[in-house]
Amino acid sequence: MPAEKKKKKPAPAKAPARLAPVVAPTVTQPVSSFEYCRALIRDVPDFPRPGIMFKDITPLLASPRALHIVLDGIAERFIGEHVDAIVGIEARGFIFGGALAARLNASFVPVRKPGKLPASVDRVEMITEYSRDSLEMHKGSIRESAHVVVVDDVLATGGTAKAAAELVHKQGGYVVGYAFVVELGFLGGRERLLPVRVESCIAY
Ligand code: AMP
Repeated sequence: MPAEKKKKKPAPAKAPARLAPVVAPTVTQPVSSFEYCRALIRDVPDFPRPGIMFKDITPLLASPRALHIVLDGIAERFIGEHVDAIVGIEARGFIFGGALAARLNASFVPVRKPGKLPASVDRVEMITEYSRDSLEMHKGSIRESAHVVVVDDVLATGGTAKAAAELVHKQGGYVVGYAFVVELGFLGGRERLLPVRVESCIAY
């Protein structure tokens, strides 16, 4: 009988080549993220009154990418900081305020036009770029010494945001920041809100 052929031993595996360290890829975009969002804000002249250039954010809301960019852009400036509550101003401030509260693990507190909130309220008067009005917040919405960020879509003269802050102070909270998607710098709202920190994504 022929001697059984000796099985050849498999060659030892080669030592793996040294792996290069993982480096985050460089992303080059034709425009910055906020410039991408700026292109999605529509100017509507003479709305809601003659002489007002209304900044319509609905095209930005319709773009999932733009909505992420502005929400992340605001959230990253407050992440890791002590924020107990986001106060969102009716109506467009609700859109950004609610999403921001979820991102920052904070509670959301709505500030509304008169007569909309069902329980007992605190109320303040305010003057905005195009109206004179009041704002209300449910009594007991803000915990004593809570750190609060006031959120709205547009900062114009700052009257609305200042009134919302007054409601927070009435209930014993501290406003540690204001956040807006759009800032109309030429109307001086930021100066009215200083020295409290003011964050915005797209300035005109
Ligand atoms: P103000 O109190 O003057 O800062 O006005 C801010 C509030 O009015 C925000 O709730 C905005 O939504 C709204 N607003 C004022 N001016 C404009 C504008 N030019 N375009 C869009 N919204 C505006």
